[in-house]
Formats: sequence, C-alpha cells, structure tokens
Amino acid sequence: MNSISLRSSISTFLVSVVLLIGTGLSHAQTSTASGAQGRTEILWLGQAGFRIKTPGGKIILIDPWITGGPKTPSQYKNDLAAIGPVDLLLVTHAHVDHIGDAPALAKMHNTKLYGPADMVTPLIHLGLIPADLGHRFNKSGSVSPLPGIKVTAVKAEHSSLLVHKNPTTEKMEAHHAGEAMGYIIQLENGFKIWHMGDTGLFGDMKFISEYYKPDLVMIPIGGNFTMDPDDAAYALRTWVKPKMAIPMHYNSNPMAKGTLAEFQAAMKGSGIKVIPMTEGETVQF
Ligand SMILES: [Zn+2]
Repeated sequence: MNSISLRSSISTFLVSVVLLIGTGLSHAQTSTASGAQGRTEILWLGQAGFRIKTPGGKIILIDPWITGGPKTPSQYKNDLAAIGPVDLLLVTHAHVDHIGDAPALAKMHNTKLYGPADMVTPLIHLGLIPADLGHRFNKSGSVSPLPGIKVTAVKAEHSSLLVHKNPTTEKMEAHHAGEAMGYIIQLENGFKIWHMGDTGLFGDMKFISEYYKPDLVMIPIGGNFTMDPDDAAYALRTWVKPKMAIPMHYNSNPMAKGTLAEFQAAMKGSGIKVIPMTEGETVQF
C-alpha cells in the first residue's frame, strides 16, 4: 500500500472508531470480515494482553495473561477457550503477566507460540510446549506467519525471567529467558501496530519509529516496571509521534501506580489520538 492510500485508510480509521463496551463477543459473532477490506477490532484483556482481529479476519493474541489476570473479563478468566480461535500467538517476554496462558493456548489451539528465542528454548526444554509449537526469533527478525501479516521484533528496555514450578520437586525455579522484545505488527492493509511490551524509555524509540513508521502504539504507562505516564508521553510526543496510542500495563499491579488520567493529562495538546480502554472493552476501526 502506498503512503497516500495508507494515509487515506488511516483517516477512515480515525473517523470510525467505535467503542463496544464489554461485548465479550465470540469469534463466531464477530467474524464478519472477509479479505483485507474488513475492520480491525482490538480487545483489551488487561495489562499487556490484546486480541486483535485483523482486516482479513485473522485473530492475533498477544501477551495473554487471562486466567491469572486480576482485571481479565470474567467470561475469559473462567473459560480460556472463550477467547476463541487463535491464528497467531505472540509473547513479548517471560514475566508471568505476559506469558500468562500462552503455553496452554498454544497447545489448546495447536498454534505456534512466537517469542524471544531464548524464552522459547526453556519453554521447550522444560516441557511447557512441544518443540514444534515454539518459534524462536530475535530483534530485527521478521516472521510472516499468516498471509499479508508481518511481525518484526524490536528492542524493549526490560528484562525477562521464566518462573516455573517444577512438577517433580514442587519447587519454584527461575530460568533465564532471553531479552524482552516489542513487536511491530503489520496487518493485511499495511496498518502497523507497535506493541511495545514492557519497556523503559530508550532513545532508539525514535529510530524504531522512523524506520517502521507505526500508526498505532500500545504503550505501557504504569511505572515501576516500565515507563510511567510522563515517560510514555515524552516518548510519544518527542520520538515516536504515532497517529494513535493505546495505554496499557496499568491498573493491574498495585506497584504500577500510573493512571490513565495522568497519561491523558500528559498527552494533552499533542495531536496524537489517545484511545482510552477499560479491560474487556473492544475498539473497532
Ligand atoms: Zn515484564
């Protein structure tokens, strides 16, 4: 898609944001799109977890902390299968609020778990996923797991540790799990989402934005483990300058005190459209 038609399609996105609060729609109920001309639908599952329905009708699930998430909508928290089919499963790093139910979902749907190479390796070696359900990649690496969809791993300024209860000893173990990543997710219509994962501020946010030109950024604002609202606003206003931003990674951990209101105040007058969501809410473009 050339830049003019991309801009035009983005304008369409901007004028047609529809909020469907607490719909909890199943895939069957929402799967009305066909081809790349359909709508994009984003459901916030809480923390960094999103279900993205692409214009081509594919379902991308990222950082699905569902059964353990304190703010997960109950229809999913109580029934993991209710999340519906999963065509692409992405995990940014091994912390429990990100890897969450991903191994279970990979096995449930017989779909590959895509994640940092050195996180996927211990998942396989510990027997948490079978080897053929893990895809290892690393920063600057791209995968095209579905027609018209491309995912590129990018830097995140964060850590990654896999905590696992050994079923034989019943003791908790900590395993190295590589480096945390973010993802540039390009959909069938050329629209690009940058899911930042967990990250602090880093100057190459400017480079990533210039190089990949994301339209929508999912950005952590909670603080303590990641950027706080002022950090996130600085990154967006100064370096990233996307058309739209969805704040995430707040409201689930008492140590991450950043609020939506603080973020909105810090973004005021920026010209960047902030899309505030509540857990369980769906935004449709
Ligand atoms: Zn983390």
